[in-house]
Amino acid sequence: MELREIAVDVYACLTPDRGLGWSNSGLVRRAGGLVIDTFWDLPHTRALMDLYRPLLPAPARRLVNTHHNGDHCWGNQLFREAEIIGHRRCAEAFGKDSSPEGLQMLRAAVDSADPAIAAFAAALADWDFTGVELTPPTTVFDDRLDLDLEGVRVELRYVGPAHTAGDVIVHLPAQRVVFAGDVLFRLCTPIGWEGTYAQWLTALDTIIDLAPEVVVPGHGPLSGLEGPREMRAYLVYVREESRRHFEAGRSEMEAAKRIDLGPYAGWTEPERLLFNVERAYRELRGMPYDAPIDALATFRGMHELRTHLAARAR
Ligand SMILES: [Zn+2]
Repeated sequence: MELREIAVDVYACLTPDRGLGWSNSGLVRRAGGLVIDTFWDLPHTRALMDLYRPLLPAPARRLVNTHHNGDHCWGNQLFREAEIIGHRRCAEAFGKDSSPEGLQMLRAAVDSADPAIAAFAAALADWDFTGVELTPPTTVFDDRLDLDLEGVRVELRYVGPAHTAGDVIVHLPAQRVVFAGDVLFRLCTPIGWEGTYAQWLTALDTIIDLAPEVVVPGHGPLSGLEGPREMRAYLVYVREESRRHFEAGRSEMEAAKRIDLGPYAGWTEPERLLFNVERAYRELRGMPYDAPIDALATFRGMHELRTHLAARAR
């Protein structure tokens, strides 16, 4: 974990690994402290708190969740004194798509006969979900919530459903900083749950229009405007390529295997492309933005695609 001061009294905690679950957090050291996102498990969230402690000796007074995915909020319970703030749909979605107990079981399945399960279990090796108690936001909002932290203006803006139904970005206009949550993945392939391409592009445009100097992504290193611009281009490209293959009658997997990742081939987790092709196909079929996803089937497909991409690279 790396702590970076990105403006006066504004910090980002970055995890250098861009693989599964390694997310970023933020701290605004004003008015008793506002933390932006926790980590996926308690040990990593404790390490995060150790990193913030010299900056903020007393427990933080506020915690914002950018969305409900566990890698951004399963450490919430450790912020006992804090008011936890999030979008209404973020709070409602807690625990709906995965549970700490379920992932802890999956994590133990490294010897599974199913190679996709074994690979997923291996990817979870760095995490320990023991003791996680889902602790959703209790202060919720629908469109926007502005805070004044001893003269530092913090704007919480709803930009979903893009990556999830309850996506929020955190904007500090005077500092020209945006904490983007998983609306922005930087140098790693995005994955989206409930949401639409159109709204995800609008969310990225919102960030670009705010003209921040520093954007803290949900995953990956800090960026300027090149971060949201590149991810926007990726989404436009994948949606367009998916449409072409859809119209040619190809399956999602066939499409994913044929799409040339070009400039995005170096991003980590390239096999998440399948997730993004599947979203495009759902939209082309007129399905709703929150249509249930068979995540296990998609993870199996991603394993197949990863094997395919690795063979092609050799
Ligand atoms: Zn995430």
